[in-house]
Amino acid sequence: MPDAIRVRFAPAPTGYMHIGNLHTALFNWLFVRGQGGTMVLRIEDTDELRSTPEALGVIYDGLRWLGLDWDEGPDIGGPYAPYMQSERLAIYQGYAQKLRDLGLGYECFCTPEELEEQRQLMRARGIPPKYDGRCRNLTEADELRLRHEGREPCIRFRVRETGKTVINDIIQGEVIYENALIGDPVIAKTSGFPTYHLAVVVDDHLMQITHVIRAVEHLPNTQIHRQLQEALEIEPPQYAHLPLILGEDRTKLSKRHGAVAVTDYAEQGFLPEAMVNFLALLGWSPGSEEEILSREQILDKFSLSDCSRSPSVFDLGKAEWMNGQYINDADPEHLADLLLPLLQEEGLMAKDPGADRHQWLVMVAQLMQSRVKLLSTFSTWARYFFTDAFDYDNRARQQWLNDPETAPKLTALADRLATLDEWNAEALEQAVRGLAEELGVKAAQVIHPCRAAVTGTTIGPSLFHLMELLEQADVVGRLRRAAGLSAAGELKPTDEEESA
Ligand code: GLU
Repeated sequence: MPDAIRVRFAPAPTGYMHIGNLHTALFNWLFVRGQGGTMVLRIEDTDELRSTPEALGVIYDGLRWLGLDWDEGPDIGGPYAPYMQSERLAIYQGYAQKLRDLGLGYECFCTPEELEEQRQLMRARGIPPKYDGRCRNLTEADELRLRHEGREPCIRFRVRETGKTVINDIIQGEVIYENALIGDPVIAKTSGFPTYHLAVVVDDHLMQITHVIRAVEHLPNTQIHRQLQEALEIEPPQYAHLPLILGEDRTKLSKRHGAVAVTDYAEQGFLPEAMVNFLALLGWSPGSEEEILSREQILDKFSLSDCSRSPSVFDLGKAEWMNGQYINDADPEHLADLLLPLLQEEGLMAKDPGADRHQWLVMVAQLMQSRVKLLSTFSTWARYFFTDAFDYDNRARQQWLNDPETAPKLTALADRLATLDEWNAEALEQAVRGLAEELGVKAAQVIHPCRAAVTGTTIGPSLFHLMELLEQADVVGRLRRAAGLSAAGELKPTDEEESA
């Protein structure tokens, strides 16, 4: 390998940055950071009608969220600036002219309607549609007439009509395309903007890109790119086309599969570390069954030649499971820092909670971290830590709170806990078990109703440890409230579906 490895991530700032884009960025990053080299961020905003500054912002946010840094790009410059294609129009115009001078670029005056007609005609004849080449050999008189009609030309590239184009792809192997199957692509639009094909070939060349790592959807485009490179006598980079990412129904991942925009994942509370791990295993494997791999471990083992050709399935359940593993293993301080803004947004933590309350949040996070898969669900699962305003779920009602024996137990427990001098897990456990003994029931017969009354649910972390983190008065208040409601028959199961 040459020592000056240069890769680029080249997103278009249109629509929203999706998981597929981030996957491509990650694989470029892993490749270049694993062995040394330069990562270029190039913004392909040649679709002047659909590119937006908001979409560009999302690209930056997504990359930063995952910690994928770059060495050259629109924001930091570099030796091959500018890195926004819309600022390089004169360069592409020069290359389009060069192709025309070589007789390989020509003006096409067809209107969108005419092109559509051509396509329909071919479809009707059972031929795969392509541009039929009608402007390939226009005479000067034709051109004059067409211009006179007010038509403005675009420029097309004259592709080979016969033979094959062979691509040696690091991941996909040797791929052969029949040249006859494609029509002449547009390389420069009437607006003066280049199309993707021209801009990508020119920039990969001028920016000295050695490896083009991108989604397999671009593999057919590579046929055009190789022909453009030949025409312009450009040394091609090495290509590595990453496998397709499918949804769980094995169709191409799209909006239909739910959240595919990168920002959605960040909002749902995926940890970037988990996302890196999860995305890295889409189409690449470390060669073992290991699934939880740190960024360093992935960097250490990653190689393009170990990437698979077959599509990989984006299994959201698995992503959530993996995220849960990372939450479980996270430093509780870090977790508390991530949770704080989410809880503040829901009004469950004060804007400026102070050091003690923050430390308390760290303890809550620690107690709950094995039970939460997504940060966004923390405020649901752990709601009772922050507020008395929680609902009693159906299972808690059914199993305990609707039982006539529960209210007296809860009242007795409230009386006992109200007089506890020490408020810690040990003292709480003693009090609960002591009461059970006095009542002549198993400890569970007090523990479960107590949990139902204090948390509104039947599952959760150690009851004594969670009560320790609540205020004594709050716990006593909750026990009395549930006792009262239960005795009044107000905690009957509701008709609502039980959520697992
Ligand atoms: N702008 C293209 C895209 O976003 C880049 C394709 C390429 O990497 O060549 O899909």
